[in-house]
Amino acid sequence: MRTKAEPQGDGTYKIFGQKIFISFGEHDMADNIVHLVLARLPGAPAGTRGISLFLVPKFMVNEDGSLGERNDVTCVSIEHKMGIHASPTCVLSYGDNGGAIGFLVGEEHQGLRAMFTMMNSARIAVGVQGVAISDAAYQKALDYAQERRQGREIGGASHEPAPIIVHPDVRRMLLSMRSQIEAMRALALYNAAAIDLSRALEGDEAEQWRETAELLTPITKGWCTDVGVEITSTAVQVFGGMGFIEESGVAQHFRDMRIAPIYEGTNGIQAMDLVGRKLPVRMGGVMGDHLAKIKATVDELNAVGGELGAVAASLADGVAAVETANAWIFEHGLADPKQAIAGATPYLGLLGTVTGGWFSARLALAAHAELAAGSDDVEYLRAKIVNARFYATHLLPRAAGYLPGVTAGSALLDEATVEGLASV
Ligand SMILES: Cc1cc2nc3c(=O)[nH]c(=O)nc-3n(C[C@H](O)[C@H](O)[C@H](O)COP(=O)(O)OP(=O)(O)OC[C@H]3O[C@@H](n4cnc5c(N)ncnc54)[C@H](O)[C@@H]3O)c2cc1C
Repeated sequence: MRTKAEPQGDGTYKIFGQKIFISFGEHDMADNIVHLVLARLPGAPAGTRGISLFLVPKFMVNEDGSLGERNDVTCVSIEHKMGIHASPTCVLSYGDNGGAIGFLVGEEHQGLRAMFTMMNSARIAVGVQGVAISDAAYQKALDYAQERRQGREIGGASHEPAPIIVHPDVRRMLLSMRSQIEAMRALALYNAAAIDLSRALEGDEAEQWRETAELLTPITKGWCTDVGVEITSTAVQVFGGMGFIEESGVAQHFRDMRIAPIYEGTNGIQAMDLVGRKLPVRMGGVMGDHLAKIKATVDELNAVGGELGAVAASLADGVAAVETANAWIFEHGLADPKQAIAGATPYLGLLGTVTGGWFSARLALAAHAELAAGSDDVEYLRAKIVNARFYATHLLPRAAGYLPGVTAGSALLDEATVEGLASV
């Protein structure tokens, strides 16, 4: 916010200031690096309304496209981090030698709005990081669970140590990983497709998909990365003691994953965005449309019945919990936003869990239809149905557990004084 931009009168600007935490701010993997930099023009309004967005290349580009002189931007330090060591996180200094040349993106003082165009897709990309690292950790855990022998199989005939994958608790861990990864992947894809459809279609349809994308983006970012930390931790657990030893490689996923709930706006900020900005759109109308789609899936599951009937019941309970939360937030949060914001993080957990359950159920319905049509890909399709049943039995009931934290408001948190927090 303190970085300055000075107009040069020829359409360019000179940038002065320092930025910390810039991912890949300096590297030699590409010929040039182009930085998007927020800076303040002389006389700009105070606060975020007075910042503008600039494009600052590492090397200036000549008329013929060849690289010219080096611009006045340098990496003055690299952070030492707990993970993502292959990503240089840089402190960049602009203008130590007369000013870095920058070009305005969009309009003056509209930098924050311009930057959000990039940030929404970056938020989905960080959610996808949650899916990707989780899946890498799952694959390692699955392999290890088949190799490692420890303990006898309960009720088994053999007296030899069994591969740990036969133990119910190890299977529970693997299923909790796999069922959530598939739900997260479906959510991220649906969110990205909603953006594509909002651009490809026109009129009301385009607007509906735009609203859907806006609602889902904080869930994709926040829920997929929070669950990603849980999943990579579970992968370490599957490895037992070897999980804590670097040589097994699984600890790296846990450490790499830990940044994702922090950067691109912490998950606390995503949750506040969800409750404070997205939920109130059309007085809850966008949320109502989202829940209507989930209820339609509940009806489809009930129509199939059998093993999917239980999934329907659990998903319906999840929807009911979200509706209770929404009603509470509108009743108390409109008059006093702090009441709603105090429960924003449990709300994100609630909505993420239920939305994930929706995707899990839809995958099962699609698999059921393929099986009914005679597909011979039985193992793969049955696995989708087992995923959904596991999700409905072990994970969807968490939805109700989030509810008291949403509807408690801020009173209890206010009672925890700084002195109280410091006393032991
Ligand atoms: C490895 C790494 C790479 C990064 N890469 C980039 C990059 O390429 N470009 C870039 O611009 N930035 C980058 N960042 C910065 C990153 O986006 C921020 O660190 C992140 O958004 C959190 O901001 P902060 O560090 O200022 O935390 P703070 O804002 O100080 O937050 C500290 C805690 O307080 C909470 N908090 C803060 N404000 C509120 C509030 N109003 N209400 C409730 N809770 C609140 C937060 O949720 C958090 O739990 C990177 C950071 C790291 C560590």
